[in-house]
Amino acid sequence: MVGKIAVEAVEEKRQRLDELSKFIWNHPEAGFKEYKAQEKVVELLKEEGFQVETGVGGVPTAIKAVFGSGHPVIGFMGEFDALPGLSQRVSSTKETIEGQPYGHGCGHNLLCTAHVGGAIGLKEEMIKRNLPGTIALFMCPGEELLTGKPLMARGGAFEGIDVAVNFHPNKINEATTGVSTAVNSMKFHFHGKTSHAANAPENGRSALDAVELTNVGANYLREHVPSDVRIHYTITNGGVVPNIVPDEAEVWYYVRAFSREVVEDVYERLVCVANGAAMMTDTTVEVEFLGGCYNTQNNIVLANVVAEAMNEIPQEPWSEEELAFAAALDEKTADSAKATTKKYGLSKDTHLYTGPGKVTSFNSYGSTDIGDVMHLLPTAYFFTACTNMGAPAHSWQFTACAGSSIGEKGMIYAAKVMAVYGAKLIENPELIKQAKEVFDKQMEGRVYKCPIPDHVGVPQ
Ligand SMILES: [Zn+2]
Repeated sequence: MVGKIAVEAVEEKRQRLDELSKFIWNHPEAGFKEYKAQEKVVELLKEEGFQVETGVGGVPTAIKAVFGSGHPVIGFMGEFDALPGLSQRVSSTKETIEGQPYGHGCGHNLLCTAHVGGAIGLKEEMIKRNLPGTIALFMCPGEELLTGKPLMARGGAFEGIDVAVNFHPNKINEATTGVSTAVNSMKFHFHGKTSHAANAPENGRSALDAVELTNVGANYLREHVPSDVRIHYTITNGGVVPNIVPDEAEVWYYVRAFSREVVEDVYERLVCVANGAAMMTDTTVEVEFLGGCYNTQNNIVLANVVAEAMNEIPQEPWSEEELAFAAALDEKTADSAKATTKKYGLSKDTHLYTGPGKVTSFNSYGSTDIGDVMHLLPTAYFFTACTNMGAPAHSWQFTACAGSSIGEKGMIYAAKVMAVYGAKLIENPELIKQAKEVFDKQMEGRVYKCPIPDHVGVPQ
């Protein structure tokens, strides 16, 4: 089997990898603040003989680690940020960890470590079999803010990579060809004039009125956009008390769609709505563009390579304890568990997935900034079983699984899959050629343009 040495190497490093994953899980950090995780990842990769660079593409917590030389250059696209409000113990009931505002409710501790393990495994295969090529492992900050990879791309971090791979913890073993949405995130800051709301309302110009009229306008806009568009908002400042006319108010919007072009069009129209609201209320508006990313664009050639690797590597069996833990979690999210088993055609009693690696084509209305890498070079995107069936993405249940042996098994499996994926591509350059042909066809002559304007800097 191609990649046998790589698989054995991952297994040999298992304890070290698990330590890294647990460290990151125990020290969850916000996007662009992943300094503790960065230090640990750099330490391990240096030990393993990689050439390591930080601050790649102008993003301070980003990492690039290189091994080997020449082509093909295989990119491993890791992430390591956590989410606010999702602190949780490894428990089947909701138990937050005191003093810990963040948690790995998207499992990026597993995501990070699987890419590190995959790169180490492939490196061993390359050394022992004297294979050509280069491993380029990246840790990409701020994925939850959907801007880490676009900012790194803007800084030129991904130049010279032939093909890449991105793994994410999820519910089943699946290489996806479905599409996730592109997104723009922006805040509208309105400025009005304060006054006593009862004694002198005529002197006031309410910034909150402008926010409300923007939302009314946005809700009318919904009817006249393509059906894949999603517009959602939250009022982040609505004033202080009812008897003061608010002179400052703010609303935060996301606009999503399955293509970048549609997002940009709807975004422009939404800015017009906000300008109209300002005009109606005699206030002014400032638009703060927070970030954006591309939709995903999966590569069927590479998805097939991932699925083939999945089916050659045995998935570890789940223990009785793991199955009981997952069943207890599923009791709390029975509707979500039912929807997942139905989606994948599994028995409704399934709590942890065991089965073949599949190529699927489900679309997702969520977004991930791997979409930007996918518009630069052919990239595979896949999932392994790391949680119970009902764990919602971004939930305390997900945090619990990401810190448990369930997540660890899914992570090690994913590391092996990525190592074998890399070995298969190095062995068979024809696959890379085919993947590039698919990519060129998808791009139809379009050129990647970072969605984040140059004046928007890296969040500090
Ligand atoms: Zn995630």
